[in-house]
Amino acid sequence: MATTPAASRLALSQLAPGVLQSEIRAMTTLCDQMGGINLSQGVCDTPVPGVVMDAAIEAMRAGHNIYTRLDGIARLRLAIRAKQQRDYALSYDPENEVLVASGATAGLHAAAMALLNPGDEVILFEPFYGYHVATLKSMRVVPVLVALADDDFALDPDALSAAITPRTRAILLNTPANPSGKVFSLSEIEAIAHACLAHDLFLFTDEIYEYFVYDGAKHIAPATLPGMRERTIAMSGFSKTFSITGWRLGYATADARWMGAMSYFHDLTYVCAPSALQHGAAAGLEQLPPSFYTQVATDHQDKRERILSALRAAGMKPTVPAGAYYVLADVSSIDGATAAEKARHLLKQTGVAAVAGSAFFRKGKGENLLRFCFAKKDDELNEACRRLREFKG
Ligand code: PMP
Repeated sequence: MATTPAASRLALSQLAPGVLQSEIRAMTTLCDQMGGINLSQGVCDTPVPGVVMDAAIEAMRAGHNIYTRLDGIARLRLAIRAKQQRDYALSYDPENEVLVASGATAGLHAAAMALLNPGDEVILFEPFYGYHVATLKSMRVVPVLVALADDDFALDPDALSAAITPRTRAILLNTPANPSGKVFSLSEIEAIAHACLAHDLFLFTDEIYEYFVYDGAKHIAPATLPGMRERTIAMSGFSKTFSITGWRLGYATADARWMGAMSYFHDLTYVCAPSALQHGAAAGLEQLPPSFYTQVATDHQDKRERILSALRAAGMKPTVPAGAYYVLADVSSIDGATAAEKARHLLKQTGVAAVAGSAFFRKGKGENLLRFCFAKKDDELNEACRRLREFKG
């Protein structure tokens, strides 16, 4: 007997109907179709450091093509330990406090699986990075948004306190931030730490843009604040720093109390991060001098200047980012009722793809903003800037 659709067990999950194709991926597809310049996705197509590339290729030839230990090869865990010590004077035991993950994305997923329950609330700052909100929702965790100030993205500690309820389990902090470029200040991170300590919360941090800081801004690792190491689950990675977004290689550092369960859940979906590529990242950490990291910042600050100048010439009003590699620009003057329409109009007129600001805010906000990524090879960025300068609305 045929089943009626309503009675059929062949149905999407409760979560699936709420899933939307990410606006970033949608713009990338449209941009590819018309052969445009993609400033929508943070793909970071600048050159990979030679030492990273060579070590990965050599590792493949040397037979490092099989599963690694579930939390990564010892060499890379040791290199991550040394990096955290060098940069932030933070000590993590490479045996049980470092997880090599398939990107910071997988690190956060594993941490959320290990530490959060359905119905828990997690506070995030708005504008937010879409994957953060979507990852939490996919686990039936409730994202609670605390809006940063419209003009300079300052944090209001009272708004943070007001958002905390008995169901709050964690705060998720992305600094330097995508899409705002905000680098949270010491006093802001102190306010966040104070809230975590007062209400006994975890702090999840996404520090993937730690080296992308401009005009003398300094990245502060939140785990360095008093009392925070034991409750901070820090995510970072190599996608951005070594321009290897497609390698899927990142890491998490956290107290041993949490790391066992995190590694278990990472194993469940990824088994391990790509084996030979872990050797590439390890060689980069071991061999690249401190000047490499300052050069990353200098190069991107220079790219930032170019895009800011082009956006201003095109009549858009950019907010100057202190970190990361995105610019949010006010595009009130561009045709279109919504940011998504404005992004499509701009793509049609110039062949330059940007992302609708609405992708980073609760419904109804961000409709006058577009986000532009400037981590592009110089010739492509320069061409995009040239086209933007010629844009006449
Ligand atoms: N976190 C943030 C804030 C990002 O912007 C991105 C890239 N768009 C990621 C994480 C992705 O990191 P990974 O490639 O290490 O998963």
